[in-house]
Amino acid sequence: MRIAIASILQESNTFSPVFTHYEDFHPVFGKAALERHQGNLTEMGGFLDVLARTKHEAAPICAAWAITANRLVRPDFERLVSQFVDGLRRARADALLLAMHGAQTAEGEDDVEGHVLSLARSVLGPDKPIVLTLDLHANITRRMAGNANAIIGYHTYPHIDMFETGRKAAHLLLRILKGKTRPTMAFRKLPLIINAENSQTYRGPMHKLIRAAQALEQAGKAEAVSLFPVQPWMDIDEMGCAVVAVTNDDQRAAQRVADSLAARLWKNKRDFEVNLVPVPEALAAAEKMEGGPIVLAESSDSTGSGSPGDSTGVLKHLIKAKLSGAAAIFLVDPSAVDKAIQAGIGAAVNMSIGGAFDRKHSKPVAVSGRVKLISDGRWTARARGYNTGIVTEMGRSVVLECGQVFLLIAERSAMTVDPELFRSHGIDPVYCKIVVVKSPNGFRAAYEPIAKAMFVVDTPGVSTANLRALPFKRIPRPIYPLDADTAPPGDLRL
Ligand SMILES: [Zn+2]
Repeated sequence: MRIAIASILQESNTFSPVFTHYEDFHPVFGKAALERHQGNLTEMGGFLDVLARTKHEAAPICAAWAITANRLVRPDFERLVSQFVDGLRRARADALLLAMHGAQTAEGEDDVEGHVLSLARSVLGPDKPIVLTLDLHANITRRMAGNANAIIGYHTYPHIDMFETGRKAAHLLLRILKGKTRPTMAFRKLPLIINAENSQTYRGPMHKLIRAAQALEQAGKAEAVSLFPVQPWMDIDEMGCAVVAVTNDDQRAAQRVADSLAARLWKNKRDFEVNLVPVPEALAAAEKMEGGPIVLAESSDSTGSGSPGDSTGVLKHLIKAKLSGAAAIFLVDPSAVDKAIQAGIGAAVNMSIGGAFDRKHSKPVAVSGRVKLISDGRWTARARGYNTGIVTEMGRSVVLECGQVFLLIAERSAMTVDPELFRSHGIDPVYCKIVVVKSPNGFRAAYEPIAKAMFVVDTPGVSTANLRALPFKRIPRPIYPLDADTAPPGDLRL
């Protein structure tokens, strides 16, 4: 048996001022895709692990991952998709294991995953199985469910189970190929979007739902049960949270499972509301505490949620604050990087920083400091989570030392959930008083064990938790919480 494996992952934010291009995916093909993921804790790493242990041949098609931003521009979308399709055709495989995000958009396409799956289905024909893995923040569509034999989502948020999800998908695919299971899949959509900040899977309202899904799997009542509380920053058709259940040859049981968990999610929807803290209040509270680090999460500028990472909502307060220890903050600002590199190591600089992409929500802030470090912006993620073991390339990068504030500024966006972002640039968050991350929740996996306290702060931005502030136009209405009196689906038994 030859199993094709591929990954194309990006989450979209259709409010972002930054569009996505082909190069943002750093795509590799064939053997290079295998080499990127072999031994790493990604979905593809999980596929490869199971195929190697069971002595199945893997036919690697492609590996592509891009940081969250607005839609992939049309010619680049067509190029990437046609490379995938050509590779799949050449592979002459018996089945496909595919890792995608589930909330990817392109110009003229709200549902990239559904599109890719429908093409994969036409290459493979109706009988060869396709098992798809998705991020927990996927937006499930009819086209996705109609073209995959099984869909399996992460069970963790912060996401730390990509490898396990890949392994689970590979085991299911092999059972399908051996005739041991005949997957039947059902899903239930809800007119609901929820905040990321309060949807951890290890505590709070999502925790019990994930435990219920896992209990059904462990009891053998379902092959896979996945909750998809979609990330809320997409103004697209067919938008909303969903539950997907895969059973063995029992369509009605799959629908029952999906419906029962969807009903529970609906009933708990108010529990996801977030308490945002004004930045001056968070800084004052931090100063009253002994030691650090105290983490300020600027979720409205979350780079993993499609914000450009250029907000000065925290920076403008931080730069004026009287701090008893060092503070670290990450920003994306290509022209500031260029100016600092022109000035050179050790040079004193005065410059405006921030608001490089999103002038609507951020104005540049004047800073004075010293160029402490210049780097190529290449670092390897170490914490369990996104791209663990894989190199991040955020372009030329500098560290400016402005009094107690250390500004890490890069030409391109990067995830901020891994302390290795700062460590790789000479700043150890453990020894900081304040660390600013641009993430709603993913940062908790690596920062909760080392942080004295954590505050999700209130600043404006395109990944704000204040969903009513976003200019939604296309999303199906009514939808909760944009419409407070939204009714649940009429046929859902609550
Ligand atoms: Zn996610």
